[in-house]
Amino acid sequence: MKLIVGLDLDGVTFDFDQGWRKVYDLWFDGQTSLSSSSKWDFHDETHFLTMVEFYKWAQRANVFGSLEPLPGALGGIHTWLENGISVLFITSRPDWAAGATSACLARYGLVPDRLGRSGMELRFEHEKWKAHAGVYVDDSPEVLTQLKAHGKTAIRFVQPWNKRAPSTVAVQHWKELTDVVLEMAGVVA
Ligand SMILES: [Mg+2]
Repeated sequence: MKLIVGLDLDGVTFDFDQGWRKVYDLWFDGQTSLSSSSKWDFHDETHFLTMVEFYKWAQRANVFGSLEPLPGALGGIHTWLENGISVLFITSRPDWAAGATSACLARYGLVPDRLGRSGMELRFEHEKWKAHAGVYVDDSPEVLTQLKAHGKTAIRFVQPWNKRAPSTVAVQHWKELTDVVLEMAGVVA
């Protein structure tokens, strides 16, 4: 049976942390890109009083449409697809980000078609464990906890904000992630 990888976008496939900082600094002449996040809630690094205000701005500023992939992500996804592994991009981004998300993926040659010829699908889902992926990759402590509670195989993409989150296995970077998934799929490297 084909392995389906439930692949998170922000903090795993795309560099949301540096991405929003670049846009924020451009808009507000800030210096947030001189640092990086160590926690999930980062509004205090901006002038926004809440994360809700931050996301209101992020929508207007097309933050989700302008992110860059993390190093190795595109090559890793390509390698999986070449080896018959399906990729289900699964994100808890807000619904308003759907257009920007598709456009951003397409800019990097990723055009999901419900696991058709592309071997890829894009799904907006807060309860990721419902997606029936064989293995999940995520950086969110909340999502990882949820996945483990539902008995799912969860790979933790190590980030400063998820140090103690539960997982089946943890990976430090995309090279490691690519190989771990190939191994899970039974592909001999
Ligand atoms: Mg994430």
